[in-house]
Amino acid sequence: MKLQSEPRREKVAAILTLAGAACVSLGLAWTFCYLYFGRQELSVVFVALTGVGVLAIYCSKRSNGASLLLVAHGVLAVICAIALIDAPIAWVPRSAHLFLLPLAAGAAFTFERRERYGALFFPMACLGAFAAFAVGALDSLAPNISPPVEVRAWGARANTTISMMLLAAIFAIYRIDSGKRLRMERELGRAVRNGEIEIHYQPQVRDSGIVSGAEALVRWRHPSGRLLSPDAFIHLAEESALIREIGLEVLRQACETLKHWSGDPRTQALRLAVNISPVQLLDDALVSSVSAIIRAAGVDPALLEFELTESALSTDTAAMIERMEELESTGASWALDDFGTGYSSLATLRTLPVRKLKIDRQFLVEATRQESAQRLLGKIIEISHVMGMSALAEGVETLEQRELLLRLGCDHFQGYLFARPMPRAELQAWLDTQPLPATSTDPRAAAGLRLVHGALHRRVTQGLDGI
Ligand code: C2E
Ligand code: CA
Ligand code: CA
Repeated sequence: MKLQSEPRREKVAAILTLAGAACVSLGLAWTFCYLYFGRQELSVVFVALTGVGVLAIYCSKRSNGASLLLVAHGVLAVICAIALIDAPIAWVPRSAHLFLLPLAAGAAFTFERRERYGALFFPMACLGAFAAFAVGALDSLAPNISPPVEVRAWGARANTTISMMLLAAIFAIYRIDSGKRLRMERELGRAVRNGEIEIHYQPQVRDSGIVSGAEALVRWRHPSGRLLSPDAFIHLAEESALIREIGLEVLRQACETLKHWSGDPRTQALRLAVNISPVQLLDDALVSSVSAIIRAAGVDPALLEFELTESALSTDTAAMIERMEELESTGASWALDDFGTGYSSLATLRTLPVRKLKIDRQFLVEATRQESAQRLLGKIIEISHVMGMSALAEGVETLEQRELLLRLGCDHFQGYLFARPMPRAELQAWLDTQPLPATSTDPRAAAGLRLVHGALHRRVTQGLDGI
């Protein structure tokens, strides 16, 4: 099923497309106008504006924080250059600096609150520049290449109209977006009570080929019938603290599945990984709520693994570690998710109550392309072993990647190569076709495990011979 995309992406794409279209059309119009008047030196500035516009449109397709900042700074630099040239004359005021207002508003609305530079400092810088141009504080820097007087009056009118229209359009996008967010927040508040929170399970497989368990990944069955991916609502849930309720619901359902599995010798040794948000982790009631859920379900807590993303440790590390230790005392263990995307020092890593490192997918993607990235991946796996942890590679999509990981000594895999996240019933059917961990009560499975292990070992060593 097609999952919904992250709503922020839509807003960012709309603002970037708008900014891009405005820069390209204004840039081209003024470039031709100044070429017509034989003022090539002025048209160069507007060619730069056109270039920034093209970049904005390109970035709108695959927007990320870095490209957004690049576009924002490009626009700021060009507007400042044009505003300097656009020095006021007796009967025409300066107007190019008016574009700094939609730029400030666009940045404030586009960047998230936690992206302080883009959401706060950059808009402040734009407003500062606007004020400086408005009072003529920078006039002494103006080059002596003012535009032809024939175009100044109607140029000022056009600049004022277009910049104010852009500002209005940005406010409209913001209003629509915050309306959507408010509606979604209200609906999300009801989602747990209405039973709309579902879990999909993505299997995790050992180096031996035996399934070790699965990761529980939340989905929201929206009243409209669409199945929303976590990207579409986790961020909102974290901002509104609804994540506490949702996280506990995910744990409740995961424990239900463990209970269900415990009745079958083939599945009773399977483990489940549950994601814990940093917002949840800082909740004082978390440990008692988690213990109560595990007790009520009557499952073995050792079969539960909590996942915390590495980036969550960047703020309030000591408090996070303390909470992780408290949660570990319930009998569950910890895995560090998206490892390599945060900035944990090895010293911090050593103090964490973590038994598994989940290596971020990006490392694997790069390792299949570059020799140096491959060596780095090998070192990460080595580090996890030196620290007494196991290593799980995320996002394994191809046989080639699995072979490489086996060669580098990786212990666990997760990715589309094995299976995509799926509902419990589908997972149950999938498990029926897979080698499962042996339990003391299941001699059949133990024999199967030895067979599979032998076959895989042969396949891998044969594969390695060929490398
Ligand atoms: P994550 O914990 O890193 O989960 C792995 C994500 O990668 C999943 O996306 C999964 O579908 C996707 N994935 C798995 N294998 C592959 C692969 O081979 N290739 C590619 N390209 N992607 C793969 P999903 O389910 O959309 O989850 C996204 C994120 O949402 C998760 O990333 C996790 O950070 C968060 N999340 C999911 N469930 C929960 C939850 O219950 N609580 C909290 N707090 N966060 C959750
Ligand atoms: Ca995870
Ligand atoms: Ca991950």
